[in-house]
Amino acid sequence: MPIRKDDTPPNRRFGIVNLVLIGFGVLLLVSSFLPNQGMQQVPRVPYSLFVSQVDDGEVRRAYITQEQIRYELKDPPAEGAPTVLATTPIFDMDLPKRLEEHGVEFAAAPPQKPSFITTALSWVVPPLIFILVLQFFARRSMGGAQGALSFTKSKAKVYVPDEESRVTFADVAGVDEAKQELTEIVDFLKSPERYTAIGARIPKGVLLVGPPGTGKTLLSKAVAGEAEVPFFIISGSEFVELFVGAGAARVRDLFEEAKKKAPCIIFIDELDAIGKSRAGSMGVVGGNDEREQTLNQLLTEMDGFSAKDKPVIVLAATNQPETLDAALLRPGRFDRQVLVDRPDLSGRKTILDIYARKVKLAPGVDIDKIAQATSGFAGADLANLVNEAALLAARAKRTAVEQGDLNEAIERVVAGLEKKSRVLQPDEKKVVAYHEVGHAIVGHLMPGGSKVAKISIVPRGMAALGYTLQLPTEERFLNSKEDLEGQIATLLGGRSAEEIVFGAVTTGAANDLQRATDIAEQMVGTYGMSDVLGPLAYDKQGGSRFLGGGNNPRRVVSDATAQAIDKEVRTLVDRAHDRALAILNHNRDLLESISQQILDKEVIEGDDLKNLLASSVMPEEAVAIV
Ligand code: ADP
Ligand code: MG
Ligand code: ZN
Repeated sequence: MPIRKDDTPPNRRFGIVNLVLIGFGVLLLVSSFLPNQGMQQVPRVPYSLFVSQVDDGEVRRAYITQEQIRYELKDPPAEGAPTVLATTPIFDMDLPKRLEEHGVEFAAAPPQKPSFITTALSWVVPPLIFILVLQFFARRSMGGAQGALSFTKSKAKVYVPDEESRVTFADVAGVDEAKQELTEIVDFLKSPERYTAIGARIPKGVLLVGPPGTGKTLLSKAVAGEAEVPFFIISGSEFVELFVGAGAARVRDLFEEAKKKAPCIIFIDELDAIGKSRAGSMGVVGGNDEREQTLNQLLTEMDGFSAKDKPVIVLAATNQPETLDAALLRPGRFDRQVLVDRPDLSGRKTILDIYARKVKLAPGVDIDKIAQATSGFAGADLANLVNEAALLAARAKRTAVEQGDLNEAIERVVAGLEKKSRVLQPDEKKVVAYHEVGHAIVGHLMPGGSKVAKISIVPRGMAALGYTLQLPTEERFLNSKEDLEGQIATLLGGRSAEEIVFGAVTTGAANDLQRATDIAEQMVGTYGMSDVLGPLAYDKQGGSRFLGGGNNPRRVVSDATAQAIDKEVRTLVDRAHDRALAILNHNRDLLESISQQILDKEVIEGDDLKNLLASSVMPEEAVAIV
């Protein structure tokens, strides 16, 4: 038999083999002590034959046990035939009488008494197997350090920063305000006496708030690294367990551990997993009690510790601050909130510089250009971008990362990896082409500070069938009403083109409409840009500005006002739609010719695109729409 290769890792295999061997050994041992051994094989005959032999007086003696009747014949029926036979007993009360009548000598076996060892083994072995199996799984699932039964132990990982793995503020870029605020925290941790001597209370909790990937985790590690104190990191979701009370016990355990190591930092990532507003979570199925208990325990612990010279500072991160329970934000708890927002142009440049230093860059690579083209990227996206570029360069067997790699990486990060395998049907492709060109022409003509850089109908990622890439010409913090109206019209350009060319609309515009409606709603509700409703903010200010917002609850308004708001939003979108239609109708020939070109080439960008769009004309009607 050929030797087959087994790709189970050797130590795991060893463990399984061991276990199986032990199991076999135990079985053998047990069975050797069990009864029903020691009777050698004799030929079996039917009971009826036995009875008739007894009746015929052929049987000399019989030995009766529960399982068997063995009997010896007086004369062997033939030369060499066995004289000892066996049969299976049936319940027969007359048997003794019958045997007696025919003069058979018979005896019964004494009742089997289990030996001491058998008894002992039957008590010891099953629990032993149980324990072995448990241990096996425990070791497997926990990687050795903790057993499966330690539900109440906190799973926090402790980092005691050493020289190599230490993260400092130098590793975090583009979030200068946040860094500044956290520098203060570092100072608390380094020299708490200075503050307590004056009588100042050292803050206990700092909440880092911001969209995913902006460096919240990194920042809190940097605080620990700068202050050179131990750092407990745990995710809020790790507190929430199947068992009510486990989370609370874990919180208790975590703070116990932390107090022993003080001064130190506890970092709770995804605080919203436990800190969701208790009032707002009504009707959520399951896990509610548990979360509430965990939250209460956290509040208790935060209120409880007040070591003067050995501060334990709780950092926490969330991207949904508006869902947090108000009790968490009260003084003495997370009373400090630090906004960690997406980086601006110069911030992106410094982040890119950090990561560019880690790869080999070809001479002449312009990081500024990359920073300009990545508006809206978070730190994690930028780190990912540089890595993608390096991968691309390596795949092409280049020795250094070139500008082209970085450009391609941007597109990859923007729209997901190119899916060559995904093929659009020809008619779908046509719709996508007109749709994207519609965006491009309207976007080119409308104000808003963005220039159309690229149109592509190569499907990318999961969602985008095609896309129009607009690059802002400068970093903008303020948008005028005209800019926003232009953005809405641009978003509606895709659908408008479909209406004009095909007289029908497809589902492809859903995301455009969503975004357009969001902008219109914000214009009316948040920015007070409506002439009809005046400079009032009808949206309640939530913390979700940087998260795309759009679903803030409204202030309490009268029915009439609510209707007016709805009407105004509708008017804004309708107007932008009319404008997009007017522009595209006026530039119908251009729409046609660019669409035909893109159906051939799939991608149009750079100067080609610029030249094509340059011949577009802003019609009088579109300007006149107010
Ligand atoms: P968050 O916790 O806000 O979701 P992380 O801190 O986990 O984001 O960021 C993920 C990774 O992205 C970091 O490990 C780091 O490599 C990179 N990163 C994010 N923001 C920054 C930044 N401001 N400066 C440098 N690197 C960053
Ligand atoms: Mg994080
Ligand atoms: Zn679109």
